[in-house]
Amino acid sequence: MSEQNPKTDLEEKARNWIKERGVTLRDIGELVHYLQAPYHDSLSIEDCIENVDKVLSKREVQNAVITGIQLDVLAEQNQLTSPLQETIASDEGLYGIDEIIALSIVNVYGSIGFTNYGYIDKEKPGILKKLNDKSSGQCHTFLDDIIGAIAAAASSRLAHSVAKDEELD
Ligand code: MG
Repeated sequence: MSEQNPKTDLEEKARNWIKERGVTLRDIGELVHYLQAPYHDSLSIEDCIENVDKVLSKREVQNAVITGIQLDVLAEQNQLTSPLQETIASDEGLYGIDEIIALSIVNVYGSIGFTNYGYIDKEKPGILKKLNDKSSGQCHTFLDDIIGAIAAAASSRLAHSVAKDEELD
């Protein structure tokens, strides 16, 4: 084994893959803003992005990201075995494993994340609408849920850190 930190490799890969699949930190930050702006006076997009960044530094989040994106890409390349190939390529509604992987992200910062995830998954604002647009020819069966979950977890983190600041005031 080399001296290299495997955790750093994983984090770098997860971040790069998200970017390569067309999603920026700002896109996810905007989802956090959408979720949290009603509850905070003058919430900046920078605060939202900072919380997204913190969520992406968690190993369980990175593992969910690389697992989900890998399956999306393999489905796009027609590399999976039937029936999984058709199920993921067509984003079949009853599959459900994309949501299960997303839940491993949602709960990282407690149960507020769960509520946020359900809401954003239903409303599909911003980048989530774009990822759900099947006309792109890309497969984002896992990525849409993963991005929604990262935004939900970041919202939860933000809510907790604001509550903590208020306690300290
Ligand atoms: Mg999905």
